[in-house]
Amino acid sequence: MTHPGIGAWPSTRRTRTPDKTALIFGDASYTYREFADAADRIAAVLATKGIGKGDAVAYIGENSPAFLQTLFGVAQLGAVFVPINTRLAPPEVAHVLTDSGARAVIYDPELHDKIAPGVESGGIPHVIPTGDGDDDEPGLRRLMTRPTGGHVDVPVAPEDPAAILYTSGTTGRAKGAVLTHANLTWVSLNCVIDYDLVSSDVALLISPLFHAAALGMGALPLVLKGGTIVLEKGFDPGRALALVQQHRITMLSGVPTTYQLMADHPDWAGTDLSSLNRLTCGGSAVPTRILDVYEERGLSFTQGYGMTETSPGHTALPADRTRDKQGSVGLPHFFSAVRIADENGDVVPRGTVGEIEARGPNVFPGYLNLPDANEAAFTEDGWFRTGDMGYLDADGYLFIADRLKDMVISGGENIYPAEVENHLFDIEGVTGAAVIGVPDPRWGEVPWAILTVQEGVEVTTDQVRAHLDGRIARYKIPKNVVVVDDLPRTASGKVRKADLRARFGAGAEVAHPT
Ligand code: ATP
Ligand code: MG
Repeated sequence: MTHPGIGAWPSTRRTRTPDKTALIFGDASYTYREFADAADRIAAVLATKGIGKGDAVAYIGENSPAFLQTLFGVAQLGAVFVPINTRLAPPEVAHVLTDSGARAVIYDPELHDKIAPGVESGGIPHVIPTGDGDDDEPGLRRLMTRPTGGHVDVPVAPEDPAAILYTSGTTGRAKGAVLTHANLTWVSLNCVIDYDLVSSDVALLISPLFHAAALGMGALPLVLKGGTIVLEKGFDPGRALALVQQHRITMLSGVPTTYQLMADHPDWAGTDLSSLNRLTCGGSAVPTRILDVYEERGLSFTQGYGMTETSPGHTALPADRTRDKQGSVGLPHFFSAVRIADENGDVVPRGTVGEIEARGPNVFPGYLNLPDANEAAFTEDGWFRTGDMGYLDADGYLFIADRLKDMVISGGENIYPAEVENHLFDIEGVTGAAVIGVPDPRWGEVPWAILTVQEGVEVTTDQVRAHLDGRIARYKIPKNVVVVDDLPRTASGKVRKADLRARFGAGAEVAHPT
């Protein structure tokens, strides 16, 4: 069966809503006609370089129209889009380029030094800067002005790869998740359904496009539905607030930090937020304090849970259930499913914590070049083992306990850091919190809290322990509190717990006997 792969979406929109605004970026704006024409041109540029079905095309750059147009242009050729995290170090970029077998790499000129070692070692034939380039090495923008043969649309099957996205690497080396045309189609449909997308939506996209969330739950569903994307290079809370007011933004997506920074900005109180009717948040739990601050402005969150491997949206909690299902990440998306299994792989009763397993047309077929990881990642009957712990309540709502690898086991009791962190965020002045397990001769592990705090605020171990006393069980209360300048984070804003464990793990008994 051939399939209207994602590459066909802009041209289908060009037929249906040619004059509708597809994309706004700074002062530039593109109708669906202009947007689809640009994607056609990029496909033509790559075709003349011999890129065809199944070839990997890497892209490393800041958010820009070219980023999105390249995604679709690559897909039109049946080729595979490999966006690269701009914050990776050169050897990590080299790993992505080699592992994906990229035949071409498109890059922002400022990032030349990041790709150079990988381009050299990988022997990548086509290296194209995004701007104008020069006569020796014309850039994408200049190549796009050359005449083309019009629209190409190479037929693809639903199970053909459309993109390879590398996971954040929170738990180790980043793995290349292969996402098919079907995966990206179904995740988009799930979003249209569960986030109530309409063609009059104007969505502000501030998170990096190399991350699965901005693609699978941002750009793609909006193009599918024919809405307008206001794209930003990066996230600046003051600018984001100004854009909401200027463009009458209806939909905003982010991670908890995004929302926290906006609420803490001096312009927060004076900004007209009345156009906003959907705030979506994922990646980690939204601290209660943030929910409260937004609720005062009449704004509620649709929280979601997912991962690169699920394209990434897999569950969503409707905004009107935020309070009565507080702490839940909701129900599986319309076309997706979730179950909970114990360490033997047996499905557990409702209310019991176990590993979350995911199934659905948005779930990836496997990691690139990692047969052993794939063997371990799927159950015999085809469910994906997420590596996250959680439970389903009586109504089937999913609650995340934590990552399997981040769970702290103290004296045989399981401690889910996320639960403790949520309470830490309630403490005045706390801006970041991570709870890790530190080796302890008596208990095996004890929880420590690593915090960042507002300038000028002092937070002590005794204060924190006093705050938590009575709120959570004794054994969950951090034995020690360390205030740091910055928490190590991934590009998506998630704390790298492994780094913290490496830093605070050794010699912990000496530092703080219990
Ligand atoms: P790696 O797999 O390389 O270690 P990663 O898992 O952090 O990196 P992503 O795919 O970006 O890479 O993140 C998915 C993970 O983020 C999920 O498996 C889960 O642990 C966490 N997560 C996502 N949404 C939520 C949420 N709403 N609440 C709590 N945790 C979440
Ligand atoms: Mg992961």
